[in-house]
Amino acid sequence: MPELPEVETVKETLKSQILNEVIDCVHVYYEPIVAYPTKQEFIEQLKGQKIKAIERRGKWLLFIFSKHVLLSHLRMEGRYYLKERKEVPTKHDHVVFSFASGKELWYRDTRKFGRMYLYEKENINEKKPFNALGLEPWDKELTPTYLKEKLKRKQIPIKTALLDQSIVVGIGNIYADEVLFLSRIHPLTKASSLTEEKLVILIKSIQVTLEKAIHLGGTTIKSYESSEGVHGRFQNELAIHGREYCDVCQERVTKISVGGRGTYYCVNCQKEK
Ligand SMILES: [Zn+2]
Repeated sequence: MPELPEVETVKETLKSQILNEVIDCVHVYYEPIVAYPTKQEFIEQLKGQKIKAIERRGKWLLFIFSKHVLLSHLRMEGRYYLKERKEVPTKHDHVVFSFASGKELWYRDTRKFGRMYLYEKENINEKKPFNALGLEPWDKELTPTYLKEKLKRKQIPIKTALLDQSIVVGIGNIYADEVLFLSRIHPLTKASSLTEEKLVILIKSIQVTLEKAIHLGGTTIKSYESSEGVHGRFQNELAIHGREYCDVCQERVTKISVGGRGTYYCVNCQKEK
């Protein structure tokens, strides 16, 4: 599944290719991809609108148009491709945006789990899914005080809390393991028990881990198939997730299940709380 760094790379790639393109027409071949509004409204509202900006919030891509915002979540297999109008979409291409310039943007999704929402710009933060999203990893409001407040009633392991998108957005399973290893925090530590000092280290580790992943992705990926590429390259750099031995102390890495997710940690470097 593409995580925040992969989506960031896709966003940057799309920005360099389709900013200021004007939509001539839209084809939706698999209707459930468009979660809101109806297929017909989606097609009619987008016609004639210009892509003024492309942003990312958590794992959501935002195409900012003159009047509307298109939200796109790639889920498991969603990809964007830039094509020419003369090419013929495959059975896996579910939405095709044709631009006045003759270029086309294809949304391909073999597992069909991806979703798109088209909203008017006003009050976007009050609408699903944004009304339930937590802070970006680099938000100035992400402080130990914020985390303490969010975690104080959480009788759950910190690993599970890191995956909760209503607290901080964009941390997936692999990155959560890396963040906790870097912070020297055991994944089963009760989220509400972390001290202010530990929370400072945790926040820094979240930022460092995701920055590194974005940097690795951003420097090597030039195509729209970036999720796979970034994933492969970042995996070579993982310090704990999927590793056999700890880089720091050479102890054998332990694998457990936390909230149903495969979790890697070092018994020496991340002491039990
Ligand atoms: Zn270790």
